[in-house]
Amino acid sequence: MIYFIGAGPGAPDLITLRGARLLSKADLVIYAGSLVNPELLTLCPPTCTCLNSASMTLEQVTDAMQACPGETIVRLHTGDPSLYGAIREQMEILDRLGLPYEVVPGVSSMSAAAAALRAEYTLPSVSQTVIISRMAGRTPVPEREQIRSLARHRTTMVLFLSIAMLPDLCHELISGGYPPDTPAAVVYKASWPEERVIRGTLSDLPEKAADIRKTALVLVGDFLSGPGERSRLYDPGFTHAYREATE
Ligand code: SAH
Repeated sequence: MIYFIGAGPGAPDLITLRGARLLSKADLVIYAGSLVNPELLTLCPPTCTCLNSASMTLEQVTDAMQACPGETIVRLHTGDPSLYGAIREQMEILDRLGLPYEVVPGVSSMSAAAAALRAEYTLPSVSQTVIISRMAGRTPVPEREQIRSLARHRTTMVLFLSIAMLPDLCHELISGGYPPDTPAAVVYKASWPEERVIRGTLSDLPEKAADIRKTALVLVGDFLSGPGERSRLYDPGFTHAYREATE
């Protein structure tokens, strides 16, 4: 069986119990070496073969999987594999080859970044929507999803794979509709020992975070500003399925 496993954002104890259990009985692990914490590989049995996919092509990855019939194979992806994980192309090849697989979710870096910021992405009356996107780089972004047009909604935004283009990104966000003083933050290597959090606004963040070039998320929106309205869920005057109003 082949398991696509979310390794979590970096801290080795942020993998799921299911992911850790499967690693501990793996015969072959193919891990995304650029971002997966190598400490996780210490969970593998001594007999396990570990391959770093950073220098491999898609075909080399799926060939390696195919070469181990009957064994427990783990494809270890950073964060949660459903976000910028390039897993679908692997699953399509495995479907064609008739090889069975399962996906084990993981803690995304976007969750670890919110934890580092001690922030909640969705706040009553501030934003109930999170847009997850990226700047176009060598990987294109469909025209209708350009940052400038997404910015029009002024939701909470989480931007992956864009830190190297931070000045352009902030420019696009402001051109699209966010006021220049909108709170924004960069979280570098969330949950790693070298984690850094830089807070600012869309206008000063490019300068404040100029030395950060990779492995970072950009977070944008008023959810990063001071105290706001409280939720209705825990409001004493609000009745819901599990609690009667007391006020
Ligand atoms: N599937 C992953 C994202 C893979 S794309 C997830 O769910 O997190 C790789 C990008 O994710 C990086 O360029 C960076 O923008 C972000 N990233 C991954 N790990 C990170 C971390 N620990 N802290 C901040 N950003 C991270």
